[in-house]
Amino acid sequence: MTDATHPFDALMEITARPPVVFVRGAGSYLWDDARKRYLDFVQGWAVNALGHSPPAVAEALAAQANRLLTPSPAFYNEPSLKLAKALVANSCFDQVFFANSGAEANEGAIKLARKFGSLYKNGAYEIISFVGGFHGRTLATMSASGKKAFEPLFEPKVTGFPKAQLNDLDSVKRLISNKTVAVMLEPIQGEAGVWPATDQFLRELRALTKERGLLLIVDEIQTGMGRTGKLFHYEHAGIEPDIMTLGKGIGGGVPLAALLATDYASCFEHGDQGGTFNGNPLMCAAGLAVLEHVAKPEFLKSVTDAGLFLESELQKLSARHGLGEVRGRGLLLALDLKLPIGASIVAEAFADGVLINSPQPDALRFMPALNVTREEISLMIDCLDAVLVKAGAARRVA
Ligand SMILES: *Cc1c(COP(=O)(O)O)cnc(C)c1O
Repeated sequence: MTDATHPFDALMEITARPPVVFVRGAGSYLWDDARKRYLDFVQGWAVNALGHSPPAVAEALAAQANRLLTPSPAFYNEPSLKLAKALVANSCFDQVFFANSGAEANEGAIKLARKFGSLYKNGAYEIISFVGGFHGRTLATMSASGKKAFEPLFEPKVTGFPKAQLNDLDSVKRLISNKTVAVMLEPIQGEAGVWPATDQFLRELRALTKERGLLLIVDEIQTGMGRTGKLFHYEHAGIEPDIMTLGKGIGGGVPLAALLATDYASCFEHGDQGGTFNGNPLMCAAGLAVLEHVAKPEFLKSVTDAGLFLESELQKLSARHGLGEVRGRGLLLALDLKLPIGASIVAEAFADGVLINSPQPDALRFMPALNVTREEISLMIDCLDAVLVKAGAARRVA
């Protein structure tokens, strides 16, 4: 044991963090321990669907905390039954398994597909995933991810995840063999820099997987729960996948995730899947409060409208500063910077009290609360405009 002389020393350093401590959040704003206020367009990584500490979620948590925390995953509890029913009623899926993180939900999706292969497809186990994809940080989900930086890490990887190219159906066809059981993708590759699968590609992929008897798994951990203006992104393409995973926004700020499957794909038997905290009433109560808000048609319409406003403001900004395209859908958007200046833009904006994210060196990502206001969008744009003016001036001097 060492004497932690610095307040940050006792935490494993798994990433570079700015040396401030956040102590409070409300809606689109965060405050640090020096009382500085930040306008937040990161929102816990697209987690706080309704902003920081939304009353609906806080109240649901408080009420449930006083009633029942955890009876055991071997017993039914009301919030998980209600949330499962609501998710099924609002989607094309028939059954739900709750998890505590997105990676765990994806791990479950991978296990479910392999189970399907062992029951119905002579032990087929390969899941075709995509270059640039991100599915989490467990060993199997890192292996399923197509992230370059993961490649040398924690060898040997879990086998059985050949990689195709997004929006290239032939690249998928070439990988299909009698070992293939499923195809898995994010409808919009978030961590890779907000690269959307086209609706046409999603439709073709659905037709292909159906024709070849393969499961289609959509990882909607970032795109689901209203983020793109529909409750689930697959609705844009008018397709019905076999398996879907949800995380991030589903808990509105608390650790909750879900694995959903159609009757056709839902084939776990006793002993295949479980977990101590899975489907605990506390997190499910929060999830229910989020879903009740987000699933309302008028709320989803407001997400679409806010997304279109943010998109047009980003396009104006791009034109003004000679930057690249604006990508994405709804309130999951990226601005192409054309230069690897993302980290310095993020740092400058942070100093000016605005939180944005740079998932790749040449891109900025915007994932505000789904109830972000036009005023808040305009404030963020004004800040970014000033930062870009400074960055442009610095480049001209250099
Ligand atoms: C964030 C994310 C994950 C991983 O979720 P965790 O809760 O961090 O485990 C998986 N897939 C996608 C698409 C994500 O955005």
